[in-house]
Amino acid sequence: MLSLVNIEYETNRSVLYNIKPMSVETEFRESLSGYISRLAISHNVTQGILFSKLIAPVLNKKYINSITHKGGDGFYDSSSGINGTGPLARDFIEVISKLTSRNDLNELTLVSWMNIAPSKGLIRSEKAWCPKCYLEAFNNGSVVYDQLIWTIQLVKYCPIHEMELVSECPFCGKNMQVISRKSKPGYCSKCEKRLGITYNNTVEPTKKDLRIVDQVISLLNVSTTYERERVSDVLRYYVSNYLENNVSKAAMYFGVSKSTFRSWLKGKNIPTLKSLVSICLKLDITIPDFLEKKPLRKLVRSREVQANDKKIIKKHDHFFIEKFLNRYILEDYINSPKSLKNIAEIIGCDRRLLYIKYPKESKRIVEIYCEYLKVNKAVRQEKAENELLNVIQDLKCKGIYPSRRNVEAMFNGPYLIKEKNIALKWKKLIK
Ligand SMILES: [Zn+2]
Ligand SMILES: [Zn+2]
Repeated sequence: MLSLVNIEYETNRSVLYNIKPMSVETEFRESLSGYISRLAISHNVTQGILFSKLIAPVLNKKYINSITHKGGDGFYDSSSGINGTGPLARDFIEVISKLTSRNDLNELTLVSWMNIAPSKGLIRSEKAWCPKCYLEAFNNGSVVYDQLIWTIQLVKYCPIHEMELVSECPFCGKNMQVISRKSKPGYCSKCEKRLGITYNNTVEPTKKDLRIVDQVISLLNVSTTYERERVSDVLRYYVSNYLENNVSKAAMYFGVSKSTFRSWLKGKNIPTLKSLVSICLKLDITIPDFLEKKPLRKLVRSREVQANDKKIIKKHDHFFIEKFLNRYILEDYINSPKSLKNIAEIIGCDRRLLYIKYPKESKRIVEIYCEYLKVNKAVRQEKAENELLNVIQDLKCKGIYPSRRNVEAMFNGPYLIKEKNIALKWKKLIK
């Protein structure tokens, strides 16, 4: 088969059949991994053969050669990135395009989202599918294929059938990778049974679940590839035009910490797809309209952004305060632990209000902060002791007496010997 590669370059005919990807112009388009599986099937070979004989020699990448030589599953286990935004997707688009002479394969991945959705949490690590979509294709005798939208972690439901996506084979109970030695759209790659079956008692999506899927679909229909600065630029636009250019208020409005929000505005970080969707739901705008700075259909409700008006907060905004506090307690504290006073300042209310209205939450916030201070103190003490030891040894070597003043001068600010624990250690060491 290797010689086929050479034939291609001599005759300009594609090495692999130039089969058309499914539904490429719609949001239900095929995934690149699914397309590769179908390519193998149409050539009557397994993925294993396709990879070792054709893809590996052209791609010539370490990760791929190692699987084909050693026969391990290492590559397949982390193959989900084929459909993603990164280098794995780009490598595969390039090589499969070369082998099939097609130029539309980047549509089968999320590479165009590269600058607007960080890869963190974007793609599922395992394969997921809609059993009804498979079943319908089987029943209609149409092509059974894997959809790109199923690979997106945020998409929990099939938009066509409004049923929960499945990621466990109902026959053998196993998960599978988007691509593996024996993968075949519509079938379990482990037990090889057909996955297009009827499910009863599946979980119904809520309205919000469906709105999330709709947002993702709207982004799948965007053909522009945006620059890295786009999201931060757009966020700054909405904050200045609709949120009084007030970062604290905006952060609270979107239910994220100020530091996170600021890092988005500065473009230091890009919001994850989940955050981007949540921002757009909040602003009641589609992601494509958001990215194009379209005017909002609704005005941001003023009471939601008047966070610094204590009276208004007391009267109306408890929903937001509660949400903010719970979010902080659940996850936001990890990145930046805060005192209750600090939190009250961010919300724009009095600390006492939090104590009175949210005693449980306040107690937890204080606990988290105390624990943080305690750990911080221990770390600092350990650092100080090490530093102290070094400084004293250093001075002794130079024949200088390690007096309080001499030692503190070497510290250059961070530690003082009048601090009790440091003083004790110092006394012990100079003896
Ligand atoms: Zn479906
Ligand atoms: Zn199975």
